[in-house]
Amino acid sequence: MPNHDFLVRSLASVWHPCSQMKHYENFPLVPIARGAGVWLYDFDGNRYLDAVSSWWVNLFGHCNPRINAAIADQLGKLEHVMLAGFTHEPVVQLSERLAQLAPAGLGHCFYASDGASATEIALKMSAHYWRNRGKLLKTGFISLQNSYHGETLGALSVTDVALFRDAYGALLKQNSTVTSPDWRNAAAGESAADYALRCADKLEAYLQQHHDSLAAFIVEPLVQGAAGMAMYHPVYLQRARQLCDEYRVHLIADEIAVGMGRTGTMFACAQAGITPDFLLLSKGITGGYLPLSAVMTNDEIYRAFYADETARGFLHSHSYTGNPLACRAALATLDIFVRDDALAMNRNKAMYLNEIAQPLRGHPAVRNWRNTGMIWAFEVDSPHRDFAQRCFTLALQSEMLLRPIGNTIYFMPPYIITHDEMDLLVNCTLRLVEKLS
Ligand SMILES: *Cc1c(COP(=O)(O)O)cnc(C)c1O
Repeated sequence: MPNHDFLVRSLASVWHPCSQMKHYENFPLVPIARGAGVWLYDFDGNRYLDAVSSWWVNLFGHCNPRINAAIADQLGKLEHVMLAGFTHEPVVQLSERLAQLAPAGLGHCFYASDGASATEIALKMSAHYWRNRGKLLKTGFISLQNSYHGETLGALSVTDVALFRDAYGALLKQNSTVTSPDWRNAAAGESAADYALRCADKLEAYLQQHHDSLAAFIVEPLVQGAAGMAMYHPVYLQRARQLCDEYRVHLIADEIAVGMGRTGTMFACAQAGITPDFLLLSKGITGGYLPLSAVMTNDEIYRAFYADETARGFLHSHSYTGNPLACRAALATLDIFVRDDALAMNRNKAMYLNEIAQPLRGHPAVRNWRNTGMIWAFEVDSPHRDFAQRCFTLALQSEMLLRPIGNTIYFMPPYIITHDEMDLLVNCTLRLVEKLS
């Protein structure tokens, strides 16, 4: 049972991520004792509906019995072995199954432990590919405005969030951004598709001029998460694929947040019918259990590294690459997709939520209501400058974990959320909007 002392000890010893630690003086930490399904419980028995899937990672609920069982089974067999020079069954099975599910042609899977590392790997592989092919100048990258691809130095160099970047500007490679197809920026009367095509024209103009020095274009397909769940039309990805082919620039699809069924299809790229040169996965891949990320790529890229010389190979490594426990959690997660027909189930849930959300969506302070698969977002007109923090605090008081990005409230719930829980979520949020607008 944690008391005030426990929180003091916690703040004295743990440096929390994405936090100004001083702010915890006014907004205390929430100590969590256990989780079950969509619910997190604190030590006093209060519960919180995890409407953000614990930073977008949880897919089938906390303490899911099926994932627990798979990890426990693996724990009795092999907890870990290095993946350089060794292999094991979970990593082979996972690579084969991901290749079957992903857009055709991505048959080679490289592993790491977190999303930012997957970004680093894709950037390095892309530039190293061009080097191995004799194109020494192709070392630059482009990303979308407001992009987010992680916060290590390489990943941050293709991330366009000033708050995360500015302090480290001197350490970062100068990459460029191109206009985001975020439909909120469409002109009055312009459709999302037309706006996406207009943005693709700008991408073309950039590629035309700079392709000689570019290795890759990295993009979050369909939804730019950290930008505040900015959504865009899939035709942008179709044009980006064509243009990247035409100008010989790799297309990196960062599906770290949107992969694993989040946008309604197993991978977001499927909605544009495209195959990227690199597909990045993490977050939901283990159902939200253990750190794991994967970079999937094609034969053409793989072959450029396959040679007698060691230095032509991709020598990148992390200690826990391909960890068997994490791979088993991922395999158990994939099993649930199949056995529960989770994508079909999610379509029904999304329909239900959209239906019951009519009053919320119609509230005069709510703007830009949007939904892709199991992601919902909208802006709230509010006089409060500290809207996000206020909303977070008030939400906790009504048993909900919401973590707005600026004035954007979003829902990204675990897929096992029930109709009753969606009712609670939507009704509580409507009351919050009423209080805060
Ligand atoms: C979260 C995220 C990352 C970074 O993943 P970490 O595991 O937090 O390093 C990269 N890209 C996208 C799109 C993400 O949402």
